[in-house]
Amino acid sequence: MSDVNVKIPFVDLSLQHQPIQKQMRQAIEDVLERGDFILGKALSDFETEFAVSSGAEYGVGVASGTDAIALGLQACNIGADSEVILPANTFVATLIGVLRAGAKPIFVDCDPNTALIDLAAAENAITPKTKAIVPVHLYGQVVSPQDLTDFAERHNLMIFEDAAQAHLAHRDGCRAGSLGIAAAYSFYPSKNLGAFGDGGILVTSDKEVAQKMVRLRNYGASKKYYHVEMGTNSRLDTLQAAVLHQKLPHLAGWNASRLKTAQQYDRELAPLKSLGITPMQNQSGDGHVYHLYVIKVDESCPLQREEIQEKLAAMGIQTGIHYPIPCHLQPAFKDLGYEIGDFPHSEKLANQILSLPMYPGLTNNQVNVVATAIASVVSERQYKLLHI
Ligand SMILES: *Cc1c(COP(=O)(O)O)cnc(C)c1O
Repeated sequence: MSDVNVKIPFVDLSLQHQPIQKQMRQAIEDVLERGDFILGKALSDFETEFAVSSGAEYGVGVASGTDAIALGLQACNIGADSEVILPANTFVATLIGVLRAGAKPIFVDCDPNTALIDLAAAENAITPKTKAIVPVHLYGQVVSPQDLTDFAERHNLMIFEDAAQAHLAHRDGCRAGSLGIAAAYSFYPSKNLGAFGDGGILVTSDKEVAQKMVRLRNYGASKKYYHVEMGTNSRLDTLQAAVLHQKLPHLAGWNASRLKTAQQYDRELAPLKSLGITPMQNQSGDGHVYHLYVIKVDESCPLQREEIQEKLAAMGIQTGIHYPIPCHLQPAFKDLGYEIGDFPHSEKLANQILSLPMYPGLTNNQVNVVATAIASVVSERQYKLLHI
């Protein structure tokens, strides 16, 4: 990208950290004092509170969101001989989690208006081996709970949520994290709730799943030095949990700030619809937590997505693409046997989507600057095309 000074970054975490610096430092010092770095007090405190916030009974902190998916599926006994349905247009970690659990991933295309998994298309992915569906609440929007539950019941499937982008999101009265057997979250620093490093959690209301997860993250031990199954070492650090515990009470406010920003983007970008710029649809009102604010640059736009991105960068506005290559076309997973053309909506979106700056504390003025910049870039070209 260009070297011009960044005027509006894609993400700025300092805004959320600055006001609670003191509390976070104190929480870290408390851990140092107690010395309970592994499976310490701050971890269990945080696990309990985070589970409640997700509408689940138990929380089991792990080293990353990827581990929360991989170990979480195992904890739900989804593994060898199971087929698991997931969207093709997710972050690769969803796929890695399914594969690490030993299950066979079955991709499904998305609804191009929301980028969420297309449950009608998922009907065609069902086989006698299908055991579970992993809906991804992509960009912070929950997959329709009613449609999801109907689908899972019809085919007798477990629902395992990838809620890595959807902390506290809700839709039609249902919370992300409470729709199925279990849900995985990530605390990667730029997620809606982020640690000072990697982290993740599995939440569930199923006691057996929670207990198995507790073993899996701790070498498969049911008690010290007694190993009942093959586990690994994947615990959420007490230090990270201490930070997350301090941040959790602010999460709802940060999400509200993201929503406000998204609503302003929606309003200011609405006139660009005729120029081929369409924001992803929000079908869940104030339940969308906008981990990302994504627009589509479609064929009717006088500029291609890359041109817009470059011009914005030259103006000091950072953007992102989530994600440029769908999972089924990633070189590492060629052996799964998918090809170009298998999931047309996901493939087309990969070429058209653009994520705009989004973080709590982005000002009205900054949002206005971004929207105005997009308008000027797109309509300038439109003007030229019309007047040649
Ligand atoms: C971030 C993310 C993950 C993985 O989380 P990590 O903590 O980075 O391992 C999984 N799924 C989705 C949709 C994500 O956005």
